[in-house]
Amino acid sequence: MEEYMNMLRDGVEKIGGSTLTHGQLNMFGEYIDILLYYNRFMNLTRITDMDEIVIEHFLDSLSIINFPTVKGAQYIMDIGTGAGFPGIPLKIYYPNKSLTLIDSQKKKIEFVDKVIEKLKIKDISTVHGRAEDIGRQKEHRERYDIVVSRAVAPLPVLLEYAIPFVRIGGQFIAYKGPNIYKEIEEAKNAIDILGVKIDDVKEIKVPYSDKTHILLILNKITKTDKTYPRSAGKPKKSPL
Ligand code: SAM
Repeated sequence: MEEYMNMLRDGVEKIGGSTLTHGQLNMFGEYIDILLYYNRFMNLTRITDMDEIVIEHFLDSLSIINFPTVKGAQYIMDIGTGAGFPGIPLKIYYPNKSLTLIDSQKKKIEFVDKVIEKLKIKDISTVHGRAEDIGRQKEHRERYDIVVSRAVAPLPVLLEYAIPFVRIGGQFIAYKGPNIYKEIEEAKNAIDILGVKIDDVKEIKVPYSDKTHILLILNKITKTDKTYPRSAGKPKKSPL
């Protein structure tokens, strides 16, 4: 395990982050153990090599830690967190920020709850449900400084899930791949309707990885109309 934790510490420094403490490294190590243990019974991740978990799950999740808006954020939401990515690594790195993780699959949320309990993480909450339903609830609507999401839906659909959660002046950061430019073309209508503007498209090099990871960053400019998100299933069935 030490070899992989050294890789993680070095990778975080390459991203421009601060040196992980022993406590943080222990938490990441324990997270790997829990993930691999439950992955034997549950379909949590196809990635099971330790170095790939460090690169594709941890370092990829942490690739935004140096953004000034992320550094300055207090309330962060992760939509479709699955086994906790990118939300849990962000919370381990930034213990003083408040994280909310949502997923529509109960089993995934139960798994994330186990991780939170075992790692004794504070100021984090999970919500089981669909983004379309949770995004209409007053306590979550337009409340988050930063909303993140990785590998959940094509951009026009994802924007309808995510933007209602972002406060005006906040940001949505989508972790995407090389198809992003085509997705942006297809999402032009959704971008107009939902009250956001593209701030940046950052092609990033995750340390130790040869794949291109792309972060799409959008600024929330105006309030999202109450019509959105439409009822559960609609955004996917007929994207904006
Ligand atoms: N974000 C994680 C990652 O990158 O490893 C998990 C990605 S997994 C491919 C997609 C996750 O999004 C699944 O856990 C699924 O249940 C969740 N999801 C899909 N549609 C959703 C929705 N409308 N609301 C909430 N969660 C959703």
